[in-house]
Amino acid sequence: MTVSEAVGDVHAVDPALLGTPGALTLYVVDAHEPAVVDTGSANSPPEIYDALDRLGIDRTDVAHVLVSHVHLDHAGGAGHLAEELPNATFYVHEDGLAYLTDAAALSRLKRSVDRAMGVEDAYGDPKLVPEGRCSVVTGGERVDLGDRELELLDAPGHAPHHYAAYDPATEGLFSIDAAGMHLAGEMRPTTPPPGFDLEANVETVRRLRALEPAVNLYGHVGPGGEDAVGELDRYEAMLPEWVERVDGLRTEVGEDVEAIVDALDPGWHSPTVRRDVAGVLDYLSDGEGESEGERTK
Ligand SMILES: [Zn+2]
Repeated sequence: MTVSEAVGDVHAVDPALLGTPGALTLYVVDAHEPAVVDTGSANSPPEIYDALDRLGIDRTDVAHVLVSHVHLDHAGGAGHLAEELPNATFYVHEDGLAYLTDAAALSRLKRSVDRAMGVEDAYGDPKLVPEGRCSVVTGGERVDLGDRELELLDAPGHAPHHYAAYDPATEGLFSIDAAGMHLAGEMRPTTPPPGFDLEANVETVRRLRALEPAVNLYGHVGPGGEDAVGELDRYEAMLPEWVERVDGLRTEVGEDVEAIVDALDPGWHSPTVRRDVAGVLDYLSDGEGESEGERTK
C-alpha cells in the first residue's frame, strides 16, 4: 500500500486492487473534516485504515465518504467502512443507492461482476450500508469539509450512477471514471457494460471541462498531468473515435470481443480493454434495439 500527495492536502491511496499495485486509486482529503473519496473493493478497507493511520487521521474523525459510482472496485468497501468509520456520511448517486443499501440489489450486482470476471468474490465480499448513513446525490450538492466545500456534479456516461466532485481549494477534480482513464500520461477509454452511454459521457466531459480544473483525480490511476483541461479535451475527442473504431471492427470481425481486441491498434489497449470493448458493443446494441423499436411503432 502506498499513500502519496496528490495535490495540497489530497492524498492518493493505492489499495493494490486484485493484488495489483497501480490498478486503482482512491483519495483521502486531510481537511478540517476529513473525507475519503471512493472505498475500493470489499478487500480495500484495511489499506484505507492503514492510510488514515499514516496520515494521523483518527477513524472517528472521518466525516464524509464519497462513493463516486457503484462499480464494485470503487464502492465495494463502503459497508465495511460504515462499520469502522462510525461518524461518516456516505454520499451516493440516487441511481446507485440501492446497490449500497438493498441486499437483493447488491447481490445481483455482485453476481454479475463475478460472472463477468469469471471469479468468485472477484472484489471480495461487500456489506450493506445502513440507509440512514447515506446522503443521496443528484448533482448540485455541496459537502462542507469545514475549511472548504466540495461541489458535487452529476456525471453520467461511464455509468448512470456516477458523480464527480470539484475541490475549489486545490482546483482538483475528482473525475474518477467519468472522464476516462489516465495511464502513464496517456488517455484511455473506460466504457464498461452495462451502463456506458457515449452521448451522456461526452456531455459530462464538457461540463467538467468548464470547471477548468488544475488536476484530474482519476480512479485509474492517480492524479493526471499538468494539463488537466487538455486531458478532458483529449477524452472528449477520443470517445466518439473509440466507439466508431469498435463499431467498424464489429462489422469486419463480428461481435467477438477477443477478435475485436486482437484487431485493435495497441494505442487503444489498457488493462480493461476487453471489458471496455464489451461496454461499447452493449451500447451499440442498445441503440439498435431502440431504432428497431422505433421502426415497429
Ligand atoms: Zn467504474
